[in-house]
Amino acid sequence: LDTVAGFDFDNSYARDLQGFYLPWKPAAAPQPRLLYLNEALAAELGLVVSALRGEAGAQLFAGNALPPGAQPIAQAYAGHQFGGFSPQLGDGRALLLGELIDRHGQRRDIAFKGSGRTPFSRGGDGKAAVGPMLREVLIGEAMHALGIPTTRALAVAATGDAVQRERMLPGAVLTRVAASHLRVGTFQFFAARGEWERLRQLADYTLARHDPQLLDTPDRYLGMLRAVARRQASLVAQWMNVGFIHGVMNTDNMTLSGETIDYGPCAFMEAYDPAAVFSSIDQGGRYAYGNQPLIARWNLARLGETLLPLLATDTEDEASVKEAVAQVTEVIDAFPQWFAAAHLEGQRAKLGLTVVASPEHDETDAALAADWLALLHAQAVDFTLGWRRLGDAARGDEAALTTLFADPEALQPWLARWRNRCAQDDVGRAPGQSGPDARAERMRGVNPWIIARNERVEEALAAASDKDDLQPFNDLLEALRHPFDEVSARSRYAEAAPPSVTACYQTF
Ligand code: AMP
Ligand code: MG
Ligand code: MG
Repeated sequence: LDTVAGFDFDNSYARDLQGFYLPWKPAAAPQPRLLYLNEALAAELGLVVSALRGEAGAQLFAGNALPPGAQPIAQAYAGHQFGGFSPQLGDGRALLLGELIDRHGQRRDIAFKGSGRTPFSRGGDGKAAVGPMLREVLIGEAMHALGIPTTRALAVAATGDAVQRERMLPGAVLTRVAASHLRVGTFQFFAARGEWERLRQLADYTLARHDPQLLDTPDRYLGMLRAVARRQASLVAQWMNVGFIHGVMNTDNMTLSGETIDYGPCAFMEAYDPAAVFSSIDQGGRYAYGNQPLIARWNLARLGETLLPLLATDTEDEASVKEAVAQVTEVIDAFPQWFAAAHLEGQRAKLGLTVVASPEHDETDAALAADWLALLHAQAVDFTLGWRRLGDAARGDEAALTTLFADPEALQPWLARWRNRCAQDDVGRAPGQSGPDARAERMRGVNPWIIARNERVEEALAAASDKDDLQPFNDLLEALRHPFDEVSARSRYAEAAPPSVTACYQTF
């Protein structure tokens, strides 16, 4: 393994940010077994796939045999959890092994999750169970295939250890690949301790990693906040347009890179409902589907607060501090428009409209999309199937769409409006880019057939965790990798659960 697997670490976080982490070692796994290896991702990272399979891969990805050049560290961070501030969270069951430069020249973090207790564990056992780690694989790969920025799982190894939850569960370690693990909570950790020099160091590191073109600009920290806010606006808009509910949008689970991170009690919505909540720990519905843009903005405001000491030219001078607050406020106040623009851009594509920048249509198109969603809501229509079947209606097959509605008559006035708008959109377009077939084709590329439906995910995880049967997991994963392909309406992965079932569904 040592030399053949091709690990060529370059650990900038450990090197440049000393004092921001604690060096630590993964716990030994009694009986490692490789459950999952993402071979395509391994190749993208420049690794030698054949050296990662079987026993060598099991020892490596369970944490028993560290690859050469890995420098495992537990990162410090803080965070607002459900609105309450915890000044010290940190990697309580995770370790950053280091960074690899991938085949595209991108720096990627390689990290363990479930690799044992660390000094940040507090009351936790440092462990992870097979089911939730395979869940991270499924949802992460689903998001990736949908074209949404996300951290991804490179591997899952069973440890042979038992984990105490509501019952005893088989333990596992996930190996996660991320553009970085810099979080809003990382900034909060140093801000809460008043460590301004470290905060500046962290901000410069973040800029170098994610927005290097801003490094030499006069307002680089404000520029960083703006860049992060724009990435989050785009990310959350993409979540909304596939019906994804993150479930734990705590500030420690929001990245500066703009990737989705930490797939815990997340879920894809089935019957459309802006108030949808699946997480068992989200009693108040703080992280409900429809709240996500508001929460993203709230989290960004927390990031903005941490930057005030860097933005104020003189922190003792009231006018200077006020000026810094005004700068941050301007970004936070711009967020709703950035989100709305990104959301509408995605909705236009889902509606089959090609016009991208057309301010004269913004209001009517937003209303067209909102009214469509109101119809889905009123009739508890499956979000994914509703959109997909709208694509069929674009080329004349209306029946597949209307059967999703209990009262299809109520849909007709909206369909007439939509058809008008489509006709208008076709004016002046080349023949190949206009008309029903071209529209339906475009819509098939943005409205997926397949999402990670809750029941399918649960059955795959139960088989893997309880019966050691990975077949349902592998079958589901394969389906999730091709979300836009045309499949049979009777494919079990495309089938919607009845609203009575999905309404009661809970994630943990
Ligand atoms: P999360 O809700 O997964 O974002 O985790 C929030 C915090 O709890 C982080 O500091 C985690 O490292 C920590 N944590 C979660 N589960 C465990 C566990 N089983 N053992 C130790 N720490 C944990
Ligand atoms: Mg987390
Ligand atoms: Mg978690």
